[in-house]
Amino acid sequence: MERWQHILKKSLIKTEQISTAFDLESEKTDRVIAEYPARINPYFMSLIQKKDDPIYKQVVPDEREIYDDVGMDDPLNEEGDSPVPSIVHRYKDRALLMVTNQCAIYCRFCTRKRLVGKRPISREMVRRGIDYIRDREEIKDVILSGGDPLILKDKALEEILERVRSIPHIEVIRIGTRMPCALPQRITKNLCRMLKKYHPLYININFIHPREITKEVATACNRLADAGIPLGSQTVLLKGINDDLETIKELMQRLIAIRVKPYYLYQADLTRGTEHMRTTVECGLDILRGLQGHISGFAIPKFMIDLPGGGGKIALLPSDTVIEMNEIEVIVKNYKNKIYHYPQVTAEKAGYEWGRGN
Ligand SMILES: *Cc1c(COP(=O)(O)O)cnc(C)c1O
Ligand code: SF4
Repeated sequence: MERWQHILKKSLIKTEQISTAFDLESEKTDRVIAEYPARINPYFMSLIQKKDDPIYKQVVPDEREIYDDVGMDDPLNEEGDSPVPSIVHRYKDRALLMVTNQCAIYCRFCTRKRLVGKRPISREMVRRGIDYIRDREEIKDVILSGGDPLILKDKALEEILERVRSIPHIEVIRIGTRMPCALPQRITKNLCRMLKKYHPLYININFIHPREITKEVATACNRLADAGIPLGSQTVLLKGINDDLETIKELMQRLIAIRVKPYYLYQADLTRGTEHMRTTVECGLDILRGLQGHISGFAIPKFMIDLPGGGGKIALLPSDTVIEMNEIEVIVKNYKNKIYHYPQVTAEKAGYEWGRGN
């Protein structure tokens, strides 16, 4: 067994373990994790400094999860875009392939709370998903997801990568994972040696709080980057965890320092069991406004809502940057709230017809 597997094996999973470790009523804990499994591995647990801190809230079961009458089991209607059980195919050119239901931690805010740690995904289901992709030439980009794909052993993961890479119309393979953050010991040299055979390969990592960026995480990300894998981050805005400008700013700055490019900052989905962690859209827009102009544009993620019911992702911008736009000029407000005029070139001179992008 590899070192990361030893660490994972020592995770807190059972009611008694969790109740004892965090001094919780075992009956309550039991009811929550019967619905939504828990897993707290010793590495991630070591980041907790005290009760209800930003790391604690991400992984310790909370009674409020089972009293949520706003959220939905499948808020993004993934089941509606799931032609075979391991696939979500919403955008024509991209498909999401779920390869496991397991993770190194079970985040209490997870959008796939209905599945993770619960509904198993068999090798046969994954194979059928790959067959689906092979049969559709319009799919250019496959996103391995789950659960956490990097929880698979190297051999099982390589089998999937090999099969996907052998499909001629697949250009990009992406992996969506929390492993470099949740259990960085998983990112071994062997894993990186294996992954780099399947380029172009991109990895998006879920980060929530600056305290997650440890020495171990820096090593893991450097190893992946040294294997030539472009790294991006995805962050969910969560009440009482990271819903303020200073926290998000620090997180983004620390991410670029470990060679991870901030990709998406998400408004929380309407997932059943997570309503107590949701914050307002204005909060996200205010944070975005606070970043713009104050840190490198390279460190600024897009702010996204994944629309309820399967409408897909949409980017939101603070609305008050463009004050007016006409044929003569564009009037804008900069990051210091000063007004500027940008003179237009005539459409005729530019040879541009309005609406050409649509
Ligand atoms: C998020 C998502 C993708 C990838 O979207 P990008 O904006 O390209 O990162 C693809 N398929 C599904 C179903 C998704 O939810
Ligand atoms: S690691 Fe990802 S898939 Fe797993 S519980 Fe956390 S957010 Fe959900």
